[in-house]
Amino acid sequence: MAGNTMEAIVLKVMDYREADVIATLFTREQGKLRGIALNARRSRKRFSGALDLFARLTVTLSVREGLSRLEEASVISLASHIREDITKVALAGYACELTDLLLPDGLPNLRYYRLLRAWLERLDSAPPSPMDRRFYEINTLNILGYRPELERCSVCEGPFDGSKPLTFHPSAHALTCRNCAGAGTAVAPTVPLLLRASLATSRFGTITFSPEELADAGIILDNLIIAHAGKEPKSLRFLREME
Ligand SMILES: [Zn+2]
Repeated sequence: MAGNTMEAIVLKVMDYREADVIATLFTREQGKLRGIALNARRSRKRFSGALDLFARLTVTLSVREGLSRLEEASVISLASHIREDITKVALAGYACELTDLLLPDGLPNLRYYRLLRAWLERLDSAPPSPMDRRFYEINTLNILGYRPELERCSVCEGPFDGSKPLTFHPSAHALTCRNCAGAGTAVAPTVPLLLRASLATSRFGTITFSPEELADAGIILDNLIIAHAGKEPKSLRFLREME
Protein backbone atom coordinates (compact mmCIF):
# COMPACT_ATOMS: atom_id res chain seq x y z
CA MET A 1 0.00 0.00 0.00
CA ALA A 2 1.40 3.39 -0.94
CA GLY A 3 1.56 5.83 1.96
CA ASN A 4 0.99 9.53 2.35
CA THR A 5 3.98 11.85 2.20
CA MET A 6 4.03 14.46 4.96
CA GLU A 7 6.29 16.83 6.82
CA ALA A 8 6.69 15.88 10.47
CA ILE A 9 8.43 16.82 13.72
CA VAL A 10 9.55 13.96 15.99
CA LEU A 11 8.02 14.36 19.47
CA LYS A 12 8.90 11.01 21.01
CA VAL A 13 10.73 7.81 20.05
CA MET A 14 10.54 4.45 21.72
CA ASP A 15 12.35 1.24 20.86
CA TYR A 16 9.90 -1.58 20.31
CA ARG A 17 10.57 -5.31 20.08
CA GLU A 18 13.96 -6.28 18.69
CA ALA A 19 14.40 -3.84 15.86
CA ASP A 20 11.32 -1.63 15.58
CA VAL A 21 10.76 1.95 16.67
CA ILE A 22 7.49 3.66 17.58
CA ALA A 23 7.61 7.39 16.94
CA THR A 24 5.11 10.06 17.96
CA LEU A 25 5.06 12.66 15.19
CA PHE A 26 3.43 16.03 14.76
CA THR A 27 2.70 16.23 11.05
CA ARG A 28 1.86 19.35 9.12
CA GLU A 29 -0.83 17.57 7.12
CA GLN A 30 -2.63 15.38 9.68
CA GLY A 31 -1.56 16.59 13.12
CA LYS A 32 -0.33 14.17 15.76
CA LEU A 33 0.19 10.55 14.72
CA ARG A 34 1.97 7.53 16.12
CA GLY A 35 3.86 5.42 13.64
CA ILE A 36 5.70 2.15 13.87
CA ALA A 37 8.89 1.89 11.83
CA LEU A 38 9.48 -1.82 11.30
CA ASN A 39 13.08 -2.89 11.45
CA ALA A 40 14.14 0.77 11.84
CA ARG A 41 17.13 -0.06 13.99
CA ARG A 42 18.50 -2.32 11.24
CA SER A 43 17.35 -0.56 8.09
CA ARG A 44 19.72 2.35 7.61
CA LYS A 45 18.40 2.74 4.09
CA ARG A 46 14.79 3.61 4.85
CA PHE A 47 15.35 5.63 8.00
CA SER A 48 19.05 6.57 8.00
CA GLY A 49 19.11 7.84 11.58
CA ALA A 50 16.18 10.18 10.93
CA LEU A 51 14.09 9.12 13.92
CA ASP A 52 15.70 11.47 16.42
CA LEU A 53 13.89 13.75 18.87
CA PHE A 54 13.24 17.28 17.58
CA ALA A 55 14.14 16.35 13.98
CA ARG A 56 12.02 17.63 11.11
CA LEU A 57 11.44 15.00 8.47
CA THR A 58 9.73 14.12 5.26
CA VAL A 59 7.90 10.89 6.06
CA THR A 60 5.84 8.38 4.16
CA LEU A 61 3.09 6.98 6.36
CA SER A 62 0.34 4.46 5.84
CA VAL A 63 -2.15 6.11 8.16
CA ARG A 64 -4.28 3.85 10.35
CA GLU A 65 -6.31 4.51 13.41
CA GLY A 66 -4.17 4.13 16.52
CA LEU A 67 -0.83 3.09 15.11
CA SER A 68 0.19 4.08 11.59
CA ARG A 69 2.95 2.45 9.62
CA LEU A 70 6.03 4.55 8.97
CA GLU A 71 7.40 3.41 5.61
CA GLU A 72 10.20 5.88 5.05
CA ALA A 73 11.75 8.99 6.56
CA SER A 74 14.34 11.48 5.39
CA VAL A 75 15.82 14.39 7.31
CA ILE A 76 14.99 18.01 6.56
CA SER A 77 16.64 19.28 9.76
CA LEU A 78 18.12 17.34 12.67
CA ALA A 79 18.14 20.42 14.97
CA SER A 80 21.47 19.08 16.17
CA HIS A 81 22.54 22.23 18.06
CA ILE A 82 19.69 21.64 20.49
CA ARG A 83 21.44 18.46 21.70
CA GLU A 84 24.59 20.40 22.60
CA ASP A 85 22.92 22.31 25.43
CA ILE A 86 21.02 20.84 28.38
CA THR A 87 18.74 23.92 28.70
CA LYS A 88 17.85 23.70 25.01
CA VAL A 89 17.11 19.99 25.36
CA ALA A 90 14.88 20.73 28.37
CA LEU A 91 12.97 23.47 26.49
CA ALA A 92 12.57 21.44 23.29
CA GLY A 93 11.51 18.39 25.32
CA TYR A 94 8.95 20.55 27.10
CA ALA A 95 7.51 21.75 23.76
CA CYS A 96 7.27 18.14 22.55
CA GLU A 97 5.59 16.97 25.76
CA LEU A 98 3.09 19.85 25.62
CA THR A 99 2.31 19.02 22.00
CA ASP A 100 1.68 15.42 22.99
CA LEU A 101 -0.47 16.40 25.99
CA LEU A 102 -2.49 19.28 24.55
CA LEU A 103 -3.13 18.33 20.92
CA PRO A 104 -5.57 15.63 19.84
CA ASP A 105 -4.56 12.76 17.55
CA GLY A 106 -5.10 13.07 13.83
CA LEU A 107 -6.30 16.66 13.72
CA PRO A 108 -4.23 19.03 11.55
CA ASN A 109 -3.30 22.38 13.05
CA LEU A 110 -1.15 24.34 10.63
CA ARG A 111 -0.76 27.39 12.89
CA TYR A 112 0.49 25.24 15.73
CA TYR A 113 2.76 23.29 13.39
CA ARG A 114 4.37 26.56 12.27
CA LEU A 115 4.79 27.73 15.87
CA LEU A 116 6.44 24.48 17.01
CA ARG A 117 8.68 24.43 13.98
CA ALA A 118 9.71 28.08 14.55
CA TRP A 119 10.41 27.41 18.24
CA LEU A 120 12.65 24.42 17.48
CA GLU A 121 14.45 26.39 14.76
CA ARG A 122 14.95 29.23 17.21
CA LEU A 123 16.36 26.85 19.86
CA ASP A 124 18.64 25.34 17.24
CA SER A 125 20.05 28.71 16.16
CA ALA A 126 20.01 31.06 19.18
CA PRO A 127 20.91 30.86 22.89
CA PRO A 128 18.05 29.48 25.02
CA SER A 129 15.90 32.35 26.28
CA PRO A 130 13.19 32.36 28.97
CA MET A 131 11.46 35.16 27.01
CA ASP A 132 11.19 32.88 23.97
CA ARG A 133 9.75 30.17 26.19
CA ARG A 134 6.98 32.50 27.39
CA PHE A 135 6.38 33.65 23.81
CA TYR A 136 5.93 30.01 22.75
CA GLU A 137 3.58 29.30 25.67
CA ILE A 138 1.19 32.23 25.22
CA ASN A 139 1.01 31.56 21.47
CA THR A 140 0.32 27.88 22.13
CA LEU A 141 -2.50 28.72 24.55
CA ASN A 142 -3.93 31.18 22.04
CA ILE A 143 -3.84 28.81 19.06
CA LEU A 144 -5.47 26.04 21.08
CA GLY A 145 -8.30 28.31 22.24
CA TYR A 146 -7.01 28.68 25.83
CA ARG A 147 -6.11 32.36 25.62
CA PRO A 148 -6.60 34.05 29.01
CA GLU A 149 -8.40 37.39 29.29
CA LEU A 150 -5.63 39.95 28.73
CA GLU A 151 -7.74 42.99 27.83
CA ARG A 152 -9.74 43.77 30.95
CA CYS A 153 -10.46 42.93 34.57
CA SER A 154 -12.77 39.95 34.92
CA VAL A 155 -14.60 41.67 37.83
CA CYS A 156 -15.05 45.40 37.00
CA GLU A 157 -14.23 45.05 33.27
CA GLY A 158 -11.84 48.03 33.49
CA PRO A 159 -9.18 47.81 30.74
CA PHE A 160 -5.64 46.71 31.55
CA ASP A 161 -3.81 49.86 30.45
CA GLY A 162 -0.33 49.08 31.80
CA SER A 163 -0.58 51.37 34.83
CA LYS A 164 -2.94 49.70 37.32
CA PRO A 165 -1.49 47.10 39.72
CA LEU A 166 -2.90 43.64 39.00
CA THR A 167 -3.56 40.39 40.81
CA PHE A 168 -3.52 36.87 39.39
CA HIS A 169 -5.89 34.34 40.94
CA PRO A 170 -4.34 30.89 40.58
CA SER A 171 -7.49 28.90 41.33
CA ALA A 172 -9.61 30.95 38.88
CA HIS A 173 -6.73 31.20 36.33
CA ALA A 174 -7.68 34.88 35.90
CA LEU A 175 -6.29 38.40 36.27
CA THR A 176 -8.04 41.29 37.98
CA CYS A 177 -7.14 44.80 39.13
CA ARG A 178 -5.70 44.77 42.61
CA ASN A 179 -8.66 46.78 43.94
CA CYS A 180 -11.09 44.13 42.76
CA ALA A 181 -9.02 41.31 44.17
CA GLY A 182 -9.24 39.11 47.18
CA ALA A 183 -6.18 36.96 47.80
CA GLY A 184 -3.87 36.28 44.86
CA THR A 185 -0.44 36.98 43.41
CA ALA A 186 0.64 40.54 42.57
CA VAL A 187 1.47 40.96 38.87
CA ALA A 188 3.28 43.86 37.17
CA PRO A 189 0.75 46.08 35.29
CA THR A 190 2.56 45.68 31.95
CA VAL A 191 2.42 41.87 31.81
CA PRO A 192 -0.92 41.54 29.93
CA LEU A 193 0.31 44.12 27.41
CA LEU A 194 3.48 42.13 26.77
CA LEU A 195 1.51 38.91 26.36
CA ARG A 196 -0.82 40.65 23.91
CA ALA A 197 2.19 41.96 21.99
CA SER A 198 3.53 38.37 21.89
CA LEU A 199 0.33 37.33 20.14
CA ALA A 200 0.47 40.19 17.68
CA THR A 201 3.79 39.11 16.15
CA SER A 202 4.75 35.68 14.92
CA ARG A 203 8.49 36.27 15.33
CA PHE A 204 10.55 35.00 18.24
CA GLY A 205 12.91 37.49 19.86
CA THR A 206 10.88 40.65 19.22
CA ILE A 207 9.24 41.10 22.66
CA THR A 208 11.43 41.96 25.66
CA PHE A 209 10.43 41.35 29.29
CA SER A 210 12.15 42.79 32.39
CA PRO A 211 13.14 40.15 34.98
CA GLU A 212 10.10 41.08 37.10
CA GLU A 213 7.71 40.93 34.13
CA LEU A 214 9.21 37.63 33.09
CA ALA A 215 8.72 36.13 36.56
CA ASP A 216 5.10 37.35 36.71
CA ALA A 217 4.31 36.12 33.19
CA GLY A 218 5.79 32.79 34.26
CA ILE A 219 3.42 32.47 37.22
CA ILE A 220 0.41 33.03 34.95
CA LEU A 221 1.58 30.81 32.09
CA ASP A 222 2.78 27.87 34.22
CA ASN A 223 -0.57 27.94 36.01
CA LEU A 224 -2.54 27.91 32.75
CA ILE A 225 -0.41 25.20 31.16
CA ILE A 226 -0.87 22.93 34.20
CA ALA A 227 -4.63 23.63 34.24
CA HIS A 228 -5.09 22.78 30.55
CA ALA A 229 -2.73 19.79 30.57
CA GLY A 230 -4.62 18.44 33.59
CA LYS A 231 -1.33 17.84 35.42
CA GLU A 232 2.15 19.28 35.72
CA PRO A 233 4.12 18.03 32.70
CA LYS A 234 7.31 16.20 33.79
CA SER A 235 9.41 18.44 31.58
CA LEU A 236 7.89 21.53 33.21
CA ARG A 237 8.82 20.24 36.66
CA PHE A 238 12.35 19.69 35.36
CA LEU A 239 12.52 23.24 33.94
CA ARG A 240 11.36 24.66 37.27
CA GLU A 241 14.02 22.66 39.12
CA MET A 242 16.67 24.03 36.73
CA GLU A 243 15.63 27.64 37.42
ZN1 LIG B 1 -11.26 45.41 38.30
